[in-house]
Amino acid sequence: MIFAKAISRFSLTMLIKKRTIASLAALPETHQMLHKTCRDFTDTELIPIAAKIDREHQYPAEQIAKIGDLGLMSIVLSEKYGGSGLDYLAYAIAMEEISRGSASIGVTMSIHNSLYLGLLEKYGNEQQKNTFIPGYTDGRKIGCFALSEPGNGSDAGAASTSATQKGDRWVLNGTKCWISGGYEAGTGIVFATTDKSLKHKGISAFIVPMNSNGLSRGKKEDKLGIRGTSTCQLIFEDCEIPKENILGEAGHGFKIAMQSLDAGRIGVAGQALGIAQASLECAAEYATKRIAFGKPISKLQLIQSKIADMSVRVESARLLTWRAAWLKDNKRPFTKEAAQAKLAASETATFCAHQCMQILGGMGYVSDMPAERYYREARITEIYEGTSEIQRLVIAGQIIKELAS
Ligand SMILES: Cc1cc2nc3c(=O)[nH]c(=O)nc-3n(C[C@H](O)[C@H](O)[C@H](O)COP(=O)(O)OP(=O)(O)OC[C@H]3O[C@@H](n4cnc5c(N)ncnc54)[C@H](O)[C@@H]3O)c2cc1C
Repeated sequence: MIFAKAISRFSLTMLIKKRTIASLAALPETHQMLHKTCRDFTDTELIPIAAKIDREHQYPAEQIAKIGDLGLMSIVLSEKYGGSGLDYLAYAIAMEEISRGSASIGVTMSIHNSLYLGLLEKYGNEQQKNTFIPGYTDGRKIGCFALSEPGNGSDAGAASTSATQKGDRWVLNGTKCWISGGYEAGTGIVFATTDKSLKHKGISAFIVPMNSNGLSRGKKEDKLGIRGTSTCQLIFEDCEIPKENILGEAGHGFKIAMQSLDAGRIGVAGQALGIAQASLECAAEYATKRIAFGKPISKLQLIQSKIADMSVRVESARLLTWRAAWLKDNKRPFTKEAAQAKLAASETATFCAHQCMQILGGMGYVSDMPAERYYREARITEIYEGTSEIQRLVIAGQIIKELAS
């Protein structure tokens, strides 16, 4: 296993000595070593280039390939299909550490792992797995996930992109929007309705090679953050794909999308935690160096209060994230817990990035320091894979269902 080779260089003693996250000590040794590997990689390979890829809206192909070499671009995919075969707890830890360096790279890693490879492994037949997984395990090729449309985001069941069967082909028509990695992906999982009268029960999932005739991309969106990954529309005009490219059963697309997003939310929670942890570290370090009124601002109780609040929220959100991952890994229901983790972690990222900027004062507002990037990157975690409002609906819905049963 690639990952095992990568981590064997590090001794656990070293790791514990330099540990910065208190709750790590409770984790199995493999996960602690994974954390250390990812942390070192992020410090040396990602932090130095994160501002540049953000400024230049550049897809970091070289770094994604290196992440692939560590086994992180197929971290939860089973070894049978060329993946690292680790669990979701490992995935959450890796997502946090990678996103601590670059949330742009975090989103590419998250969508590829949970919403491309994860769907293929769970719902694909052997032929589909053997066709669309090879080449996608090491970061050289990535997949995308196309659910949202101009007319529906939160209301995903209202999809109007259509798929019509014509002989041995499916013909797709319509527009998907906000597709992360739309320019870089080699294949996408696309949701389209095969019977609009059935509403969400008429939606199916399809595997679509991105070079299919009749598929074009819209302009790259000019985003507030996560600018190291493209986001664009996918436009289907009589786009034909083979009939065997339907993923799972016809009419099960909505269920597939919702179940996949449950898992995806653990990844976004990890990404948000990375931004939050980076904000906390940046703020605490700056506070020890910045002198005001004759002493470091870290001695001021109002600054200490902010740092304390940030750390409590980060640790709480982290434990919620690890709990959701643990439940998934142990095949227990985790819909509510994944939504709780995503909600807590994304609002923590926004809170911590805000406090970080405040602690840095003027230096927080300019791009010489990463605080302003954290502030911009944090916001997306409250929007995609279900907004914070939708997470609250999911959580309340689950609690009411539990009480009624
Ligand atoms: C950078 C970026 C990357 C993205 N990547 C992808 C991707 O790879 N694939 C993909 O399919 N999609 C992607 N998305 C789309 C994203 O998932 C949607 O933007 C998100 O689900 C919200 O949908 P919307 O934008 O249509 O907002 P709307 O659904 O129009 O919501 C607008 C507001 O109304 C609120 N609202 C809506 N319904 C309710 C309700 N029932 N109760 C209370 N409040 C409600 C929302 O919370 C929000 O505040 C991406 C978006 C962005 C910005």
